[in-house]
Amino acid sequence: MASDTVKTAPIVGVLALQGDFAEHEAALRSFGLPCRRVRGARDLDGLAGLVLPGGESTTMLRLLDAEGLWQPLASALRSGMPVLATCAGMILLAEAVENPRQRSFAVLPITVVRNGYGRQLHSGTFPLRSSVLPAGTTGTFIRAPRITAVGADCEVLAWRDDDPVLVRRGPVLAACFHPELERRHPVYAMFAGEIGGRTATTAECGA
Ligand code: GLN
Repeated sequence: MASDTVKTAPIVGVLALQGDFAEHEAALRSFGLPCRRVRGARDLDGLAGLVLPGGESTTMLRLLDAEGLWQPLASALRSGMPVLATCAGMILLAEAVENPRQRSFAVLPITVVRNGYGRQLHSGTFPLRSSVLPAGTTGTFIRAPRITAVGADCEVLAWRDDDPVLVRRGPVLAACFHPELERRHPVYAMFAGEIGGRTATTAECGA
């Protein structure tokens, strides 16, 4: 078969082992960004960015091992590509995870407490305080992790009351809440803007 490698729109990988990856795919498409489900190491080839969705981080850890994805994903996360991680995805990136302690890729200098706002009781939509997001921006929190410490080289972009809930270090953006659940949420626009500035050299875009 002839090679079909051509210049085309950047492709964003969405970790699709468990959780709300379908909502992320819809959000990416609403910004005109093609995406590819990441379920094995080969799915990481040629990506311009990566999304780690919400879900259940312990289940994701188990499936990452089962699929042989831990090491390849660790390398991808350290490659400098833009990453958007929400909720369980953020837990996977945190340097330290509590309640209970669990391992993580440790690429983001934050400490998180799983289910740190209570389980269902404090789930819901809350106003965000931010100097970079438009006034009135809200975030939907679902059994969300709570950030209890932020390293010096990590920027806090938004707060819920006095808690940091949106952080960035370099190209890695992580939220305790779920921007993918709202149409064209400003946090998604930030990520899409980052991806849009890049190009990819592969024509593949499978779902
Ligand atoms: N409570 C989940 C966890 O600990 C995260 C919840 C979510 O992603 N909405 O992994």
